[in-house]
Amino acid sequence: MLGKLTVIILALGLLAMPVQAADAKTIYLTFDDGPLFGTANILKVLDAEKVPATLFMVGLHVEASAEHKALMEQAKGMDLITVGNHSYTHANNHYKRFYSSTREVVDDLEKATGVLGLTAPVHARLPGRDVFRLPNLSRDDFGIGKAEDGKERPDFNAVAAVGYEIYGWDHEWSHESTGKPIQSVEQLLTEIDAKFLANREVERGNLILLMHDEMFQDHFDGTANLTALIAGLKQRGYAFGHIADYDN
Ligand SMILES: [Zn+2]
Repeated sequence: MLGKLTVIILALGLLAMPVQAADAKTIYLTFDDGPLFGTANILKVLDAEKVPATLFMVGLHVEASAEHKALMEQAKGMDLITVGNHSYTHANNHYKRFYSSTREVVDDLEKATGVLGLTAPVHARLPGRDVFRLPNLSRDDFGIGKAEDGKERPDFNAVAAVGYEIYGWDHEWSHESTGKPIQSVEQLLTEIDAKFLANREVERGNLILLMHDEMFQDHFDGTANLTALIAGLKQRGYAFGHIADYDN
Protein backbone atom coordinates (compact mmCIF):
# COMPACT_ATOMS: atom_id res chain seq x y z
CA MET A 1 0.00 0.00 0.00
CA LEU A 2 1.30 3.39 -0.86
CA GLY A 3 1.26 5.92 1.92
CA LYS A 4 -0.51 9.21 1.39
CA LEU A 5 2.81 11.06 1.38
CA THR A 6 4.26 8.69 -1.27
CA VAL A 7 1.24 9.31 -3.49
CA ILE A 8 1.67 13.06 -3.13
CA ILE A 9 5.38 12.82 -3.93
CA LEU A 10 4.65 10.63 -6.99
CA ALA A 11 2.00 13.08 -8.16
CA LEU A 12 4.38 16.02 -7.76
CA GLY A 13 7.01 14.06 -9.68
CA LEU A 14 4.58 13.53 -12.57
CA LEU A 15 3.74 17.23 -12.61
CA ALA A 16 7.41 18.10 -12.78
CA MET A 17 8.06 15.89 -15.82
CA PRO A 18 8.37 17.76 -19.10
CA VAL A 19 5.11 17.21 -20.93
CA GLN A 20 6.76 16.25 -24.20
CA ALA A 21 9.53 14.00 -22.92
CA ALA A 22 7.74 10.72 -23.56
CA ASP A 23 6.44 11.54 -27.00
CA ALA A 24 8.42 14.41 -28.46
CA LYS A 25 7.48 14.90 -32.08
CA THR A 26 9.88 16.32 -34.60
CA ILE A 27 9.21 17.82 -38.01
CA TYR A 28 11.86 17.90 -40.71
CA LEU A 29 11.06 20.65 -43.20
CA THR A 30 12.30 19.76 -46.70
CA PHE A 31 12.03 21.77 -49.90
CA ASP A 32 12.70 20.17 -53.29
CA ASP A 33 13.73 21.26 -56.78
CA GLY A 34 15.36 24.62 -56.05
CA PRO A 35 16.86 26.97 -56.70
CA LEU A 36 13.64 28.23 -58.31
CA PHE A 37 11.20 31.09 -57.99
CA GLY A 38 10.11 30.78 -54.37
CA THR A 39 13.53 29.87 -52.97
CA ALA A 40 14.33 33.45 -51.92
CA ASN A 41 11.09 33.64 -49.89
CA ILE A 42 11.87 30.31 -48.20
CA LEU A 43 15.30 31.55 -47.13
CA LYS A 44 13.84 34.80 -45.87
CA VAL A 45 11.25 33.02 -43.70
CA LEU A 46 13.69 30.39 -42.39
CA ASP A 47 16.10 33.13 -41.42
CA ALA A 48 13.37 35.03 -39.58
CA GLU A 49 11.91 31.97 -37.83
CA LYS A 50 15.26 30.40 -36.94
CA VAL A 51 14.23 26.82 -37.65
CA PRO A 52 16.30 24.14 -39.41
CA ALA A 53 15.35 22.89 -42.87
CA THR A 54 16.79 21.04 -45.82
CA LEU A 55 16.75 22.26 -49.40
CA PHE A 56 17.27 19.40 -51.84
CA MET A 57 18.59 21.19 -54.92
CA VAL A 58 18.86 20.26 -58.58
CA GLY A 59 22.24 20.78 -60.30
CA LEU A 60 20.73 22.07 -63.53
CA HIS A 61 18.67 24.64 -61.62
CA VAL A 62 21.79 25.93 -59.88
CA GLU A 63 23.45 26.38 -63.27
CA ALA A 64 20.42 28.12 -64.79
CA SER A 65 21.56 31.64 -63.84
CA ALA A 66 23.83 33.65 -61.59
CA GLU A 67 20.81 34.43 -59.38
CA HIS A 68 20.08 30.74 -58.91
CA LYS A 69 23.68 30.07 -57.99
CA ALA A 70 23.61 32.96 -55.53
CA LEU A 71 20.53 31.48 -53.85
CA MET A 72 22.37 28.20 -53.39
CA GLU A 73 25.37 30.01 -51.90
CA GLN A 74 23.08 31.97 -49.60
CA ALA A 75 21.42 28.74 -48.39
CA LYS A 76 24.78 27.07 -47.83
CA GLY A 77 25.89 30.04 -45.74
CA MET A 78 22.94 29.74 -43.33
CA ASP A 79 23.72 27.78 -40.15
CA LEU A 80 20.37 26.05 -39.81
CA ILE A 81 20.04 25.06 -43.44
CA THR A 82 21.25 21.84 -45.01
CA VAL A 83 21.66 21.86 -48.77
CA GLY A 84 21.04 18.39 -50.14
CA ASN A 85 21.46 16.69 -53.50
CA HIS A 86 18.33 16.15 -55.61
CA SER A 87 20.26 14.99 -58.72
CA TYR A 88 21.67 16.95 -61.63
CA THR A 89 18.92 16.43 -64.22
CA HIS A 90 15.92 15.55 -62.02
CA ALA A 91 15.74 12.50 -64.33
CA ASN A 92 14.43 14.94 -66.97
CA ASN A 93 11.15 13.93 -65.33
CA HIS A 94 11.28 10.49 -67.03
CA TYR A 95 11.73 8.38 -63.96
CA LYS A 96 11.35 4.84 -65.29
CA ARG A 97 13.92 5.52 -67.98
CA PHE A 98 16.27 7.20 -65.50
CA TYR A 99 16.14 4.28 -63.07
CA SER A 100 16.76 1.75 -65.84
CA SER A 101 20.50 2.53 -65.63
CA THR A 102 22.22 2.26 -62.28
CA ARG A 103 25.37 3.85 -63.72
CA GLU A 104 23.38 6.84 -64.99
CA VAL A 105 21.70 7.36 -61.63
CA VAL A 106 24.98 7.30 -59.71
CA ASP A 107 26.75 9.54 -62.25
CA ASP A 108 23.88 12.03 -62.19
CA LEU A 109 24.02 12.28 -58.40
CA GLU A 110 27.80 12.64 -58.46
CA LYS A 111 27.59 15.42 -61.04
CA ALA A 112 25.13 17.31 -58.83
CA THR A 113 27.40 16.88 -55.82
CA GLY A 114 30.12 18.63 -57.82
CA VAL A 115 27.87 21.48 -58.97
CA LEU A 116 26.49 21.97 -55.46
CA GLY A 117 29.97 21.76 -53.95
CA LEU A 118 28.88 19.27 -51.28
CA THR A 119 31.16 17.13 -49.17
CA ALA A 120 30.45 13.83 -47.45
CA PRO A 121 28.17 12.90 -45.91
CA VAL A 122 25.90 14.08 -48.72
CA HIS A 123 22.21 14.12 -47.90
CA ALA A 124 20.19 13.21 -50.96
CA ARG A 125 16.68 12.71 -52.22
CA LEU A 126 16.20 10.79 -55.43
CA PRO A 127 14.02 12.52 -58.03
CA GLY A 128 10.47 11.20 -58.21
CA ARG A 129 10.95 8.49 -55.62
CA ASP A 130 10.01 8.33 -51.94
CA VAL A 131 13.04 6.27 -50.90
CA PHE A 132 14.09 5.82 -47.32
CA ARG A 133 17.46 4.24 -46.70
CA LEU A 134 17.36 2.56 -43.33
CA PRO A 135 19.83 -0.03 -42.06
CA ASN A 136 19.47 -3.02 -44.36
CA LEU A 137 16.29 -1.71 -45.82
CA SER A 138 15.36 0.57 -48.65
CA ARG A 139 11.76 1.53 -48.67
CA ASP A 140 10.65 2.85 -51.98
CA ASP A 141 7.84 4.78 -53.53
CA PHE A 142 4.53 3.23 -52.62
CA GLY A 143 3.26 4.42 -55.99
CA ILE A 144 5.37 2.10 -58.10
CA GLY A 145 4.54 -1.53 -58.75
CA LYS A 146 6.41 -4.57 -57.52
CA ALA A 147 8.14 -5.19 -60.86
CA GLU A 148 9.41 -1.61 -61.07
CA ASP A 149 10.42 -1.77 -57.42
CA GLY A 150 12.55 -4.82 -58.21
CA LYS A 151 14.25 -2.99 -61.07
CA GLU A 152 14.96 0.19 -59.14
CA ARG A 153 16.12 -1.29 -55.85
CA PRO A 154 19.65 -1.95 -57.20
CA ASP A 155 19.86 1.77 -58.10
CA PHE A 156 18.87 2.86 -54.60
CA ASN A 157 21.38 0.44 -53.12
CA ALA A 158 24.13 1.61 -55.49
CA VAL A 159 23.56 5.26 -54.51
CA ALA A 160 23.67 4.35 -50.81
CA ALA A 161 26.77 2.21 -51.39
CA VAL A 162 28.76 5.19 -52.68
CA GLY A 163 28.00 7.06 -49.48
CA TYR A 164 24.78 9.04 -49.96
CA GLU A 165 22.27 9.35 -47.15
CA ILE A 166 18.90 8.98 -48.89
CA TYR A 167 15.68 10.45 -47.55
CA GLY A 168 12.07 10.01 -48.55
CA TRP A 169 9.16 11.83 -46.97
CA ASP A 170 6.24 11.02 -44.69
CA HIS A 171 3.85 13.69 -45.83
CA GLU A 172 3.58 16.19 -48.65
CA TRP A 173 2.19 19.68 -48.86
CA SER A 174 0.89 19.05 -52.35
CA HIS A 175 0.73 21.50 -55.21
CA GLU A 176 -0.86 21.92 -58.61
CA SER A 177 1.28 21.78 -61.75
CA THR A 178 1.49 25.59 -61.61
CA GLY A 179 3.08 25.32 -58.15
CA LYS A 180 -0.06 26.53 -56.33
CA PRO A 181 -0.42 24.81 -52.93
CA ILE A 182 -3.42 22.48 -52.68
CA GLN A 183 -4.06 22.23 -48.93
CA SER A 184 -4.54 25.35 -46.83
CA VAL A 185 -2.07 25.76 -43.95
CA GLU A 186 -4.84 24.74 -41.51
CA GLN A 187 -5.64 21.61 -43.51
CA LEU A 188 -1.98 20.67 -43.67
CA LEU A 189 -1.56 21.10 -39.89
CA THR A 190 -4.61 18.89 -39.30
CA GLU A 191 -3.15 16.23 -41.61
CA ILE A 192 0.19 16.30 -39.79
CA ASP A 193 -1.54 15.91 -36.41
CA ALA A 194 -3.55 12.99 -37.78
CA LYS A 195 -0.49 11.29 -39.23
CA PHE A 196 1.28 11.38 -35.88
CA LEU A 197 -1.85 10.16 -34.09
CA ALA A 198 -2.11 7.18 -36.44
CA ASN A 199 1.64 6.44 -36.14
CA ARG A 200 1.97 6.63 -39.90
CA GLU A 201 5.49 8.08 -39.90
CA VAL A 202 8.38 5.82 -40.99
CA GLU A 203 10.45 6.65 -37.89
CA ARG A 204 8.23 6.94 -34.83
CA GLY A 205 7.91 10.55 -33.67
CA ASN A 206 9.71 11.94 -36.72
CA LEU A 207 7.88 13.34 -39.72
CA ILE A 208 9.64 14.45 -42.88
CA LEU A 209 7.51 17.03 -44.64
CA LEU A 210 7.97 17.45 -48.40
CA MET A 211 7.34 20.80 -50.02
CA HIS A 212 8.53 22.32 -53.29
CA ASP A 213 10.25 25.68 -53.70
CA GLU A 214 7.89 26.80 -56.46
CA MET A 215 4.96 26.79 -53.99
CA PHE A 216 6.40 29.76 -52.14
CA GLN A 217 6.32 32.35 -54.91
CA ASP A 218 4.83 35.74 -54.12
CA HIS A 219 1.65 35.14 -56.13
CA PHE A 220 0.88 32.09 -53.98
CA ASP A 221 1.47 34.10 -50.77
CA GLY A 222 4.59 32.03 -50.19
CA THR A 223 6.05 34.11 -47.39
CA ALA A 224 2.78 34.33 -45.45
CA ASN A 225 1.97 30.64 -45.93
CA LEU A 226 5.35 29.36 -44.78
CA THR A 227 5.36 31.75 -41.82
CA ALA A 228 1.89 30.54 -40.83
CA LEU A 229 2.90 26.89 -41.18
CA ILE A 230 5.94 27.29 -38.95
CA ALA A 231 3.91 29.28 -36.40
CA GLY A 232 1.25 26.55 -36.37
CA LEU A 233 3.83 23.80 -35.87
CA LYS A 234 5.49 25.76 -33.07
CA GLN A 235 2.15 26.40 -31.41
CA ARG A 236 1.42 22.66 -31.40
CA GLY A 237 4.72 22.02 -29.63
CA TYR A 238 6.46 20.20 -32.47
CA ALA A 239 10.24 20.38 -32.57
CA PHE A 240 12.16 21.09 -35.77
CA GLY A 241 14.97 18.69 -36.68
CA HIS A 242 18.13 18.77 -38.74
CA ILE A 243 18.04 16.09 -41.41
CA ALA A 244 21.49 14.88 -40.30
CA ASP A 245 19.93 13.90 -36.97
CA TYR A 246 17.18 11.84 -38.62
CA ASP A 247 17.84 8.18 -37.91
CA ASN A 248 18.38 7.24 -41.54
ZN1 LIG B 1 11.90 16.81 -57.26
